[in-house]
Amino acid sequence: MTEIRTVGVIGAGQMGNGIAHVSALAGYDVVLSDVSETALKAGMETIERNMSRQVAREMITLDQMQAALKRIRPSASVKAHEASDLIIEAATEKREVKEQIFRALCEVVPAHALLATNTSSISITRLASVTDRPDRFIGLHFMNPVPLMKLVEVIRGLNTEQATYDTVIGYTKSIGKTTTNAEDYPAFIVNRILMPMINEAVYTLYEGVGSVASIDTAMKLGANHPMGPLQLADFIGLDTCLSIMQVLHDGLADTKYRPCPLLVKFVEAGWLGKKSGKGFYDYSGDAPVPSR
Ligand code: NAD
Repeated sequence: MTEIRTVGVIGAGQMGNGIAHVSALAGYDVVLSDVSETALKAGMETIERNMSRQVAREMITLDQMQAALKRIRPSASVKAHEASDLIIEAATEKREVKEQIFRALCEVVPAHALLATNTSSISITRLASVTDRPDRFIGLHFMNPVPLMKLVEVIRGLNTEQATYDTVIGYTKSIGKTTTNAEDYPAFIVNRILMPMINEAVYTLYEGVGSVASIDTAMKLGANHPMGPLQLADFIGLDTCLSIMQVLHDGLADTKYRPCPLLVKFVEAGWLGKKSGKGFYDYSGDAPVPSR
């Protein structure tokens, strides 16, 4: 079995910086890369801010935080992964982007290295097929926010070897996560169930059945959800939600997965949710307010 000492993370956005955060705290050396220097800088700042919050809540010590931060090496180049043992891709949810990343990665990573993707919906088997190691390729679907959420969905592609699965299970345990297994079908388990609900909430808004506030209040108080579906969509990122619905729609060819035109329009406007400052809510003030 491959010994994991250095974890590479590709994409320093919401998910990537979270995966780097939990890996570094668990004692791994981490290489965090992103095409965007700005995203990389923001990602490192987020990790520091989130760890400081954990120190303030006495979940970790200041020493642990400082040691973990020292273990993370940010880089704008994919070449930085030449000594990584497990590389987890957490870049934008677009198949072409991920395929291009994995092709480039295979040119630089050592032969023993395992490759994983944090995709929310794209076929693991298909992404694995562009690499030189489909046997050492697997889906590791973390939940947002990574430092707080317990679950990692583990998805084996058609060619994933048992040893790869066993090694990543060891890694997920070492970072304190619980795993669940899903088969390699569009959006796996969590998003197969969650995303159509969010899409339906957007249809409910689109058809004027309720306002943003009434839809979220209805689901919080009426279904005991900790967060309303529109607020959750903002939190996930509306571009990511749309990509997942498109994968479900294309992959299962069922009209029940048709992305709501209002979701499409918001993404076209650049209203991507919390990460862009505006989605179903506007985040520019002290408290989020419905954006329309
Ligand atoms: P994000 O938009 O916050 O971050 C994506 C990052 O990828 C950006 O920093 C971007 O600069 C970077 N990137 C784009 N192209 C790249 C490339 N070629 N090389 C390196 N970096 C590149 O998105 P996110 O929410 O962190 O999502 C990342 C992945 O995690 C997606 O596959 C998404 O489906 C999945 N995911 C998201 C959530 C969620 O709730 N947001 C939950 C689970 C899984």
